[in-house]
Amino acid sequence: MSEILPGIHLVDGVNPSPQFSTNMLLLKDAKGPTWTLVDTGLPPSAGSGGQPGYPGALPFLEKYCASRNISLRSIRSILITHLHRDHTGNLKAVAQKTGAKIYAHWIEAAYMANDPPYKGKGMPPLEPVEVHEKLKDGDVLGDLFDGLVAVYAPGHTPGHTAYYCPSRKLLFPGDAVFGGEHGLHLTPPEYTFSQSMALISARRLAELDVEGVVEYHGNPVLKDARAALRDAARNARPGDDSAQP
Ligand SMILES: [Zn+2]
Repeated sequence: MSEILPGIHLVDGVNPSPQFSTNMLLLKDAKGPTWTLVDTGLPPSAGSGGQPGYPGALPFLEKYCASRNISLRSIRSILITHLHRDHTGNLKAVAQKTGAKIYAHWIEAAYMANDPPYKGKGMPPLEPVEVHEKLKDGDVLGDLFDGLVAVYAPGHTPGHTAYYCPSRKLLFPGDAVFGGEHGLHLTPPEYTFSQSMALISARRLAELDVEGVVEYHGNPVLKDARAALRDAARNARPGDDSAQP
């Protein structure tokens, strides 16, 4: 899909299978010749939920950057929405190639470091990763993209965090919502730590002044996205959190 809005690139080819559309996001930093990456895709192949022989997301990022004359070393920041392997599996490799600073919520950072190990639904990173900048709700990342705010949106995982750009009314919600055929919905409960908490977070995200939502899975909603967020929250079922492991 490439550049869907000025300064917002969906890296081509990252999808591990036709049924699993994945949007690795590359954002142009307005204040300098640098870039911010939101989530980093799957590692190569087996056990990752992708097709056998899947080379991992890194080659797609390298190819995309080469096609756009973007130096990998100009990616200075990596924002992680949550610990799941389809978001972090490739993180160590990307961090090594770029030398970028890694940001994630402080709860997620502990699980990503495997201290303690994550026992909730969905797979954690293949190997422990150190987060450099541990975020909390409301932290302002003014130099990244057109200015971003970390919005704590737990439920899908305990430290799940969305990133909001107030000046452009854009939300990068990670897996707080999925894009489906009919707008947005909550991520299926089989992948979610607490569906009730995810529902409460979706309601909170729907209070933001948002025109566009670029979620990690599914098609971005670039117009009237607040209504789509409200629908996602309204149509969601609370789920049975007591069934959690
Ligand atoms: Zn997830």
